[in-house]
Amino acid sequence: MDTVEKLGILGMGARYDMCGCGRVSEDDYINNGIYRVKTSSGTCSIFKVLLSNECTRDCAYCQNRIQRDIPRTTIAPEDMARLFIQLFRQRKVQGLFLSSGIQPNSSASMDNLIKTAQILRQRYNYKGYIHMKILPGASTAHIEAAATVANRLSINLEVPDAEHLKMLSRSKRYADLAGGMEYISKLRQKGIRISQTTQFIVGAADESDRDIVYATWNLKERFSLARTYFSAFTPVIDTPLENKAPTPLIRETRLYQVDFLFRQYGFTPDQLVFDNSGHLLQDVDPKTAFALHNPQLYPIEINRADYQTLLLIPGIGPISAKRIEAMRRIGKITDPMQLKATGAVLKHLLPFVTINGKYYPSLDAAAKGGQQLTLWDYNAAGNNRAGIISA
Ligand code: SF4
Repeated sequence: MDTVEKLGILGMGARYDMCGCGRVSEDDYINNGIYRVKTSSGTCSIFKVLLSNECTRDCAYCQNRIQRDIPRTTIAPEDMARLFIQLFRQRKVQGLFLSSGIQPNSSASMDNLIKTAQILRQRYNYKGYIHMKILPGASTAHIEAAATVANRLSINLEVPDAEHLKMLSRSKRYADLAGGMEYISKLRQKGIRISQTTQFIVGAADESDRDIVYATWNLKERFSLARTYFSAFTPVIDTPLENKAPTPLIRETRLYQVDFLFRQYGFTPDQLVFDNSGHLLQDVDPKTAFALHNPQLYPIEINRADYQTLLLIPGIGPISAKRIEAMRRIGKITDPMQLKATGAVLKHLLPFVTINGKYYPSLDAAAKGGQQLTLWDYNAAGNNRAGIISA
């Protein structure tokens, strides 16, 4: 098998691992391990590969599980480092995401991941981005060594708790995964400059969104993760889950929205609305769901709301909230178009605000100049909105 063939296999082997700002679609796979990745400042190309897709483990969802009859291959650390640095110097990639199957054991595979990064740092003097996966069962010594060469370390928890993990893997222990995350966090507290992420497979173990949301919250509180990734389960043929239905992408989207509400809007889990199955509502985003279920808090007068209250309004984010505050320092906001100029999304926010005492329940009403709000309008609007959800 030549190197290009190997990279084709090992690049595709890493496709379910998330990095950057989230979902990688089919269109984002360029070739041979090169992925286009969204970041907070745009897009870049990442070399995202496994060192080996050979694995002794049997995780029920995984394309690389031992029982599958697929082409297997491995690239040695020296060769992988050389391949990456060539791509980097040709400006085809801007960073490296490195993971591996477990062969013959976690210790040997972690040795190879760390060696690859050490060669890049020491022999090639590479100073750029390396995101390294910490494999299940890795020792604390391996985590420490990885932290000296990587910018980001991640351990995929996959599921919210030990009970759900038992449904997916006989060999992974939840305590090991959580312990590894705790150890990375301790290294960071000691001043080692690395970031830390994790990933959930959404829907593989019949967990609810509520389970994942509370796990995400607890992880954020305990370890201040740079990111939590959510990957909607996709069945892989020739695995125990091959006949399980794929998870709708909207679940993944809603979980990302919740994570943003936690990180940037100050939301807490008790503010979220779940259906009877414990899932987030699919037909409205989580912030709108909160507003619809709390009609007593709305409409909010845009000229009086403090920053945190502005963030409770659908269609207003941290940037537009700051711009609204700045605009109010100059004078009262009296027209919906002023809000539009802040970047707020008018069609989302209008049903939930008054602007200088006037209520514009829709873009149509805004065009006609809105209506003076009365207590009756307020209550009627609130009741209507609550009714939408309970219908
Ligand atoms: S240990 Fe990793 S690569 Fe191996 S089967 Fe499990 S998820 Fe797949």
